[in-house]
Amino acid sequence: MDKADIVADTLLESKKIVVFTGAGISTESGISDFRSPGGIWSRFDPSEFTFQKFLASEESREKYWAFSSSSWPEMSAAKPNQGHNAIAELYHMGKLDCVVTQNIDGLHQKSGIPEERVIELHGTAWWVKCLECGQRYPREEIHKRVESGEKVPRCDACGGIMKPATISFGQSMPLEETGEAERRSAACDLFLVAGSSLVVYPAAQMPLIAKDNGAKLVIINLEPTPHDHYADVVIHEKTGEALPQVMVRVKEKSGERN
Ligand SMILES: [Zn+2]
Repeated sequence: MDKADIVADTLLESKKIVVFTGAGISTESGISDFRSPGGIWSRFDPSEFTFQKFLASEESREKYWAFSSSSWPEMSAAKPNQGHNAIAELYHMGKLDCVVTQNIDGLHQKSGIPEERVIELHGTAWWVKCLECGQRYPREEIHKRVESGEKVPRCDACGGIMKPATISFGQSMPLEETGEAERRSAACDLFLVAGSSLVVYPAAQMPLIAKDNGAKLVIINLEPTPHDHYADVVIHEKTGEALPQVMVRVKEKSGERN
């Protein structure tokens, strides 16, 4: 039995899986990892793009929108990869409780997982939200306005300041999503990490909540994580390579069992 076999058996035994994804799965779809060396934050200074600065001046907002708009075409055009597709297969098998993700790119939804099964801890780049009245606008619509010269778009409904519906540096985590993710983590029977290094809060604590409540823990991430010693199985590979291999075994084994 190799590790893919063991994970396949674990998936087959599980009925309520929470999959936790981070930047690792998105970079395999060509999306820049903001925090990695050579990533956007080595070329831009993150302290220029905090939520506090965004609120403080029109100049900062203009800079933010220019920066954010430059990465939107890449993000909106990105396609789910084999890692996303493997997770979508778990959904179709009726085993997925939900995906909890640190990613803002909407690729799980694009892979066919319904919106209500995806908990986005860092918000989403697909919507723009008015900070005054809460009105939401599709990103593409606002992107076109920025492209055609509106440097800092304002809300049609109230004239308020608008920002992509992502969680910026200095902005607090969304309470509702974080609480929901913690409840689901506590109630699952398998917590599967796919492409997260599990270092930032609240990502770091979710696997522990799951494990403390009796779930199995499987970690698939290219680099070691601080929770590897806590996991039942750890695979240090790309999720787009490891997960499809696991799903092949799952199909073989479920064929055997039928
Ligand atoms: Zn508004």
